[in-house]
Amino acid sequence: MKQNDSYAKIVNEFMSKLEATINLVAPENTEALDNLHELKKMADKLSFRSDSIDAYSLNYFFKYMDEKLADGEIEKYAACRFDMKRFSVINHQFGRDTGTKILNKFVTMLQKGLGEDGCVCRVQGDTFTMLFRKERLPFVIKYLMGTSIEVGFKEKKRAVLSTHAGYYEITEKKSGEEIMDRIGMAWNMAKHVQRVSYVFFDETLMRSVENEKWVESVFDDALKNEEFMVYYQPKVMLKNYRLNGAEALCRWKRDGEIILPYRFIPVLEQSHLICDLDFYILERVCRDLARWQAEGKTLVRVSVNLSRVHLGDMNLVERVVEIVDKYKVSHEYIELELTETTTDVDFRELKQIVIAFRTLGFSVAVDDFGVGYSSLNLIREMPWKVLKIDKSFLPDGSEEADMDTQKKVMLKHIIGMAQNLGLECIAEGVETTEQVTILKENNCYHAQGYLFDKPLPVAEFEDRLEKLA
Ligand code: C2E
Ligand code: MG
Ligand code: MG
Repeated sequence: MKQNDSYAKIVNEFMSKLEATINLVAPENTEALDNLHELKKMADKLSFRSDSIDAYSLNYFFKYMDEKLADGEIEKYAACRFDMKRFSVINHQFGRDTGTKILNKFVTMLQKGLGEDGCVCRVQGDTFTMLFRKERLPFVIKYLMGTSIEVGFKEKKRAVLSTHAGYYEITEKKSGEEIMDRIGMAWNMAKHVQRVSYVFFDETLMRSVENEKWVESVFDDALKNEEFMVYYQPKVMLKNYRLNGAEALCRWKRDGEIILPYRFIPVLEQSHLICDLDFYILERVCRDLARWQAEGKTLVRVSVNLSRVHLGDMNLVERVVEIVDKYKVSHEYIELELTETTTDVDFRELKQIVIAFRTLGFSVAVDDFGVGYSSLNLIREMPWKVLKIDKSFLPDGSEEADMDTQKKVMLKHIIGMAQNLGLECIAEGVETTEQVTILKENNCYHAQGYLFDKPLPVAEFEDRLEKLA
């Protein structure tokens, strides 16, 4: 990502012409020489310093890395790319000019901490890169995690600044561009994927980025080639273990191998491609339901997962209706599984979507209830039909007795609450008969899990449907 390639070229040419001119001037012409040396300093400043912030420029970053690589020192260094968390809030609170001063102070103190042989370089706005000796890492990590900066002199107000950062401890002779790539990957992972303060580049990260690139590049063709398939995992009634529903789960068949959702769903969720996949799976499910109906099979309700990425889509409900109605499937056979949300905006959108689906006669389930940030308002304020209790709430005997008791208490109250609110309750990930006993004791009568069936290819699931008749 060497953005300033042509700029850097011009700077380099300018510098070498200037050097050549200096060499041409006779030594006794001191005035001309002084002027030229002054010019060189100014040119250095123009190309190697950032404008409004007292930091080096990206050009300097590449030049410095090249130098360290050339003198065989690069492996003694670590590199970092970072940007400020919520800097717009600081700008809003103190005004833009003061905001710039605060950022300047933050960068100046950071540069001091890096010592003579480290540099802080500005990429743009509030994004920076750094190269510094590895011994400075503990200081840098601590500083970037959160540092309080004094604002103004009279009131002694303080602003706390923190960052998203990607680090790379350089272990081999790598070029500037490779180093830039690696800190970019780690930074992206910290900021956009894991949403944590920092991530270090390593081989696992490299492989996951490669997987990401691969998924994104082949997805469209894979979808066209019908490589994605629906597996159906039965849902049963606990009183007689009879099938009474199924969850549609996506599988990717590529070169004779089955790829599981954890390898591609999170990638697709980063780029909205997940929406195409969800509609495709819904369409497949509707096609199967229509076929089963035509063949005289007993139908059960099938749930389809909708990623939370759909929340921003104004046409979501319309699209779903369009697909279901195309196959003339009665809405009561379709259940939409949605997960919890964390922000207020999402909460309002989710509520509208749940209401719309319910009004149209679809069933709607809260998936994975209890993981992440469940809010009781989410359950109280939206007309869900089904609550799916996440498997992490099922005691599994593997943990300490205390933990199992805690889980049992929570399970009991979740089920009790759901029932008082008129929700159907289903437990996911049921693997043992002990878990079934506990569920029954607590009046939960629906379950899904390996104890009954794994997600099944369509033909095997059809056998289950046959038996139902
Ligand atoms: P989910 O919606 O919570 O689906 C349940 C997951 O638990 C499935 O994993 C299922 O195979 C697994 N599971 C079922 N019973 C058991 C059990 O007894 N023990 C254990 N340990 N696991 C069990 P799977 O199929 O790998 O899917 C993982 C996740 O990927 C799903 O979690 C869902 O969030 C997502 N996903 C799958 N297909 C789709 C899809 O078409 N669209 C979207 N948006 N997400 C999907
Ligand atoms: Mg689900
Ligand atoms: Mg689930």
